[in-house]
Amino acid sequence: MNTRFWNRVNKGGPVPTHKPELGPCWLWTGYQNHRGYGQASFNGKVMLTHRISFTIQRGRLPLAGMKICHHCDNPSCVRPDHLFEGTDSDNMRDAVSKGRLPTLIDGRTNNPNTQKTHCKNGHPFSPENTKIRMRNGKQSGRSCIICMRNSAREKARRDYVPHPRKTALTALLAKWEGKP
Ligand SMILES: [Zn+2]
Ligand SMILES: [Zn+2]
Repeated sequence: MNTRFWNRVNKGGPVPTHKPELGPCWLWTGYQNHRGYGQASFNGKVMLTHRISFTIQRGRLPLAGMKICHHCDNPSCVRPDHLFEGTDSDNMRDAVSKGRLPTLIDGRTNNPNTQKTHCKNGHPFSPENTKIRMRNGKQSGRSCIICMRNSAREKARRDYVPHPRKTALTALLAKWEGKP
């Protein structure tokens, strides 16, 4: 099984420009999902190939809740020494330090907001949960999509006005009930 796995790996991948000391990436040549991660079946289960590589190398699965992250930022890379096991927040910190998360790019990089990994309500500024706000064709900030959804729901509740016919009916009923 392990030989079959490594047979599908191209060890002559690109050298990461931000960390050339890592050496070339080992690219998965088989199926990749839409986010560029390799996918294959391993012990009868479909797994991401960098997690399979980690499992083969360490002789155990990644711990529950732990992410296998890439030093090289190359999702299809399965080179064991390019991988590390970390929590979601390690991954997030790593991503921010490499500038991989959506941040402001209009030169205001010293804006402390660009360094935040979570919104004020603690939701992660992950690529899936971040909306880039634009002003005059430039990024002007980031919004948390969970919070945007919650506040839209709250506004809808606040602005809720009962249908006029219902209001009229309620008034009519009250009038009748008020009669002796
Ligand atoms: Zn790599
Ligand atoms: Zn939020």
